[in-house]
Amino acid sequence: MQTHCPNCFDTIEADAMTCPACGCAVLFWGRALSETERLIHSLGHPDRAQRLKAVYALADLPQSEAALPLADLCFAAPGDVWQAVEVIRTLAAMPAVERVEVALARLALEHPAGPVQTLAAHALDAKFGGGDGW
Ligand SMILES: [Zn+2]
Repeated sequence: MQTHCPNCFDTIEADAMTCPACGCAVLFWGRALSETERLIHSLGHPDRAQRLKAVYALADLPQSEAALPLADLCFAAPGDVWQAVEVIRTLAAMPAVERVEVALARLALEHPAGPVQTLAAHALDAKFGGGDGW
């Protein structure tokens, strides 16, 4: 049975102690990281289901450090509108701080998908209020 290395996401045997690709000690990877840092790292996972798990977990753990990496995820996979919708939901659950505003503004102004722009603009307006030019 195979799984992904938690560090580099290469495919490895499920019982591997170290990753043949990057050399990390699989069982001990991430111990020095916070839960938020591990979840932000997981936004780069090649498996979409694993990325979405991280997006959902970040919504339950509203840490604004993840705001800009979450926006980056939407630009890395611009055709995945549903993933972007889940990202916007997570951003809307975060504290109303500047980096959350910047992340939503980037999605509202620069995302190539119209529905994502519209949803991000609504979330921005609902969270940061109104009529200041966004
Ligand atoms: Zn690895």
